[in-house]
Amino acid sequence: MRFFEGYRCGACGFEVEAGSPAGECPACAGPLLCVYDTGAIRRGLPGSARAPKRGGKGVWRFRRLLPDFAEEITLGEGCTPLIPAGRLGETIGMRRLYLKDESANPTGSFKARGMAVAVSRLRALGISTACVPSAGNAGLALAAYGAAALIRCRVFIPSDAPSGVAEECRLYGAEVVSVSGVISDASRALDASVGTDRGGVLSTFREPCRVEGKKTIAFELEDEIEPEWIVFPTGGGTGIVALWKAYRELEAIGALRRPMPRLAVVQAAGCAPLVRAFEEGTDKAKPWKNPATIASGIRVPSSRADMLILKALRESAGAAVSVEDGEIMAAVKEIAGTLGVFSSPEGAAAWAGLKRLVRTEAVSPSARIVIVNTAGGARYRFLLESS
Ligand SMILES: [Zn+2]
Repeated sequence: MRFFEGYRCGACGFEVEAGSPAGECPACAGPLLCVYDTGAIRRGLPGSARAPKRGGKGVWRFRRLLPDFAEEITLGEGCTPLIPAGRLGETIGMRRLYLKDESANPTGSFKARGMAVAVSRLRALGISTACVPSAGNAGLALAAYGAAALIRCRVFIPSDAPSGVAEECRLYGAEVVSVSGVISDASRALDASVGTDRGGVLSTFREPCRVEGKKTIAFELEDEIEPEWIVFPTGGGTGIVALWKAYRELEAIGALRRPMPRLAVVQAAGCAPLVRAFEEGTDKAKPWKNPATIASGIRVPSSRADMLILKALRESAGAAVSVEDGEIMAAVKEIAGTLGVFSSPEGAAAWAGLKRLVRTEAVSPSARIVIVNTAGGARYRFLLESS
């Protein structure tokens, strides 16, 4: 059974057919989102996003709510551990706290889920070269999945990226383009390089399938514990949009019999455009000037999907909070010493942010709460030396 119907622009609603190579909306350049025949799923096999017949593991087990490709590229992404974190939570009166450890994915981060699906789409479209701007994890994931799919990759890395990223991308056979500046400078360099040939561009919200892969975090969490809050470190915002889209789809197929979980965005105090917009009550987020934080994965001054992220927060009765770098480093140590998980600074920001949200009574400590550690900490050991 095929349920994937095509794409719809998240900004203006323009529809694009399923076989199109378009990465963004042809009418307004907004983010394209995948659309499914949720009514057919609901009538046929209600109850879950999983595909009971064809099975499979990890991300592809949820193929009823993924685009269908003849070839599903996989390195074993998904099915990451959900670690009970009561000992961490009890320091602020929380008993039902869990950490979703995305560092168990191939290349060590949640980006693997999205790249598995995005690279499978490129294969289906017959596109042989892919590129992405990245300060780390997205570039590494693309390089690895590109190697697996025999797709040539170009990764545009800003000069403020952690050392070692470029070397590891090259190890997978990717070409590395070093760009002076931050992630938005790398993005501009990529645009200038590809010109009008945008077929292989996998930048955040400039292709529709990275969100689809990341939706499976929500599907797994729903199978596991039905969370009441999900706290997510947020830069470009594919993660938070993916969670929101996943839960909207679970509602549509009749698999969610309670309100969707409340979603919380955590940003760094030195780069918090979405938190500022949420607090000001605006629909869009102004770009952040001079972004500065040790957490390079969330050092993202603007998102192309700011409207969708803010919508996700408001529709889920969610929250947004920013944390200082000092709180992030303290949280890295606290998570490691309490749970035995060496988290990325971004994942640690989620815990630091949750503590603030509980202190300000935005989140009740009695709720069933998940913090998402988006990547492992080993690549960021250099931060420990300077703290
Ligand atoms: Zn549009």
